[in-house]
Amino acid sequence: MDLLLLGPPGAGKGTQGVRLSARLGLPKLATGDLLREAVTQRTQLGLKAQAIMEAGALVSDDLILAMVREELAKPAARRGVILDGVVRTIPQAEGVAALLAERGRQIDLVLFLDVSDEEILGRIAKRRGIEGRVDDAPESVARRLKAYREQTAPVLAWYQARGGVTRIEGTGTVDEIAARILRAVEP
Ligand code: AMP
Repeated sequence: MDLLLLGPPGAGKGTQGVRLSARLGLPKLATGDLLREAVTQRTQLGLKAQAIMEAGALVSDDLILAMVREELAKPAARRGVILDGVVRTIPQAEGVAALLAERGRQIDLVLFLDVSDEEILGRIAKRRGIEGRVDDAPESVARRLKAYREQTAPVLAWYQARGGVTRIEGTGTVDEIAARILRAVEP
């Protein structure tokens, strides 16, 4: 099963993705995590991505799709993956669909974690205190929300026109949201 988590920054995709990954026994594929790891390791990818990420902008579709191609080729990904924050533009939606189609697969379920802007700003401020992510600074967050609205929100309509999107109310406790997600995944 291939599952996609969509939603604004701070919607809880990472937290819920970890839970789903454990529950379904499928690896989580999070481009944000892979990019942060590349920055820490100072790889060529990391050096290219660092300034873009810190500014809160989106890394190029080509780089993202190359990472997804590499991850899907791993044996652990053969039964499916949980895509977390991976599809952020329409070219990425098209590219991921093509990469899965090469393996005779498709995204089986798109889950949209719906959270208000007010809630997001509160959560990111809290996360900044805990994780200290540079891109959780207020100016970067404003850029990330703008990138989300302009480039990622249209992706919802793209999926809506191709099989649909399941909206999950993203406010509440982590357990409550996880239960809503499970009801959508395992009805
Ligand atoms: P995240 O942890 O998912 O919020 O990602 C952190 C940052 O990594 C984003 O603000 C972008 O700069 C970059 N990034 C992660 N995934 C993508 C993607 N699919 N497309 C473009 N940029 C991405």
